[in-house]
Amino acid sequence: MTDHDSSAAEQAAPAIRPRVRFAPSPTGYLHVGGARTALFNWLYARKYGGQFLLRIEDTDRQRSTDESTRAIFDGLAWLGLDFDEDVVFQGSNLARHQADVETLLASGAAYRDFTPQAELERQRADAEARKVPFAFDRALADLPAEVVAQKLAAGEPHAVRFRVPEGVTEWYDAVHERIAFPNKDIEDFVILRSDRTPVYNLAVVSDDIAMRITMVMRGDDHISNTPKQILLYRALGATVPEFAHVPMIHGTDGKKLSKRHGATAVGDYQHLGLLPSTMLNFLALLGWSPGDDTEVMRMETLLEKFSLDGLQKKAAIFDPQKLDWMNGQHLSLMPLDDVMPHIYQAFERLGVASRSDLEARDEWFRGLVELLRVRARTVDDIANQSTPYFVEDVMYDADAVSKQWRDANASAEILSATRERLASLNVWDTASMEAALRTLAEELNISGGKIFQPLRVALTGLTVSIGIFDVLLYVGRDRSLARLDNAVRWLKQDIPA
Ligand code: GLU
Repeated sequence: MTDHDSSAAEQAAPAIRPRVRFAPSPTGYLHVGGARTALFNWLYARKYGGQFLLRIEDTDRQRSTDESTRAIFDGLAWLGLDFDEDVVFQGSNLARHQADVETLLASGAAYRDFTPQAELERQRADAEARKVPFAFDRALADLPAEVVAQKLAAGEPHAVRFRVPEGVTEWYDAVHERIAFPNKDIEDFVILRSDRTPVYNLAVVSDDIAMRITMVMRGDDHISNTPKQILLYRALGATVPEFAHVPMIHGTDGKKLSKRHGATAVGDYQHLGLLPSTMLNFLALLGWSPGDDTEVMRMETLLEKFSLDGLQKKAAIFDPQKLDWMNGQHLSLMPLDDVMPHIYQAFERLGVASRSDLEARDEWFRGLVELLRVRARTVDDIANQSTPYFVEDVMYDADAVSKQWRDANASAEILSATRERLASLNVWDTASMEAALRTLAEELNISGGKIFQPLRVALTGLTVSIGIFDVLLYVGRDRSLARLDNAVRWLKQDIPA
């Protein structure tokens, strides 16, 4: 019998409001894998009106740092993954962990093991020498009560081990379906070390019981811990939660995602000018699929489509190019009001313009962003591509010059004629500009491109930009004419005598 015999279909919507948790160890930055797991838990809680709790598993005093804890808070805040109730620091629950161990000792579900570390190591080395797998021998460790009492009275150091019962431990995993472990393959594992600190499996179970967690959703690297944890729940007389083990994340080369693959910390992406909504969308698809081929999704859609049924077994592939593409999609599809705060930040960070400057010409600026965002991948791209509309004079890119102003004389003439036509316009709007320049092209018997391309270089210094009439509009009349004058002057100086 298992604690949960429900079918896959029943698992999709929980019978009770779920209480789930994200339980990171603060020993590094918030990794994309962790953030992904946090997101799945958050979606599950929010979708079904439950609670999403945060527990910082800081029991490893040597490796846990405040900086890392801060990175977890910052990363979750950036993504908008808010948690309910107070954050739980596992390290403050030591007394309860020890009390739970006492309960297990009292019921006989656990026993004190006085075997010195050196002796255990000797047994291991011996097994190795005999080329047999080391098998922990309960008969050697589990001593008669009076011997235990004597050693305890003498204050001998000891660990506490869980007495693994006979049988099979199995559960219905929301991702992997039925998983079973024969108990004979699980040795009597330590739950309390000789320094009275709990091991991971005990601390997690004790905390998940105290936090009334109904569903444990975490990386599938924890599958092998799960039978031990289930045995602990039962021995403590607690209800076993449901489990969903989500896949690991690999790079495009199929190897486990690591620094070799580039940025793996959520904070790095924040600083690369990526939108949080993109990151959420991208993370959601690491191990989950909506069941159709929808890829670009904002939070409303993720919440609507998320279900345990869509969780996948196979490793997820982290493809940075897809992330880039997806950000471009979010950038152009999001309501402009949602994009603007990120744009202001990027403009300030990259020193293009201050927020107050931008707000002072709000309508102009929003119009420009609308034009730029459809061809940009990041908000940083938008800031960088907007320079021609903010600076007084542009610099000519060498490639642009050699490509579009190849014949300096001819280019200078076309630009002079262009300047004249533009200067004669009564209104500075794109329709008038276009009509004037197309007429000029006809008169000169050249294609429109022969006018527009050199003009683009004169106005932006570059070969690519938003539409040429929009460039004229956003650079403005006076600056456009001045730039044309400069270009003609520059080209004439460049012409050998
Ligand atoms: N601290 C563990 C980890 O970061 C949590 C495992 C769990 O969710 O139970 O892997």
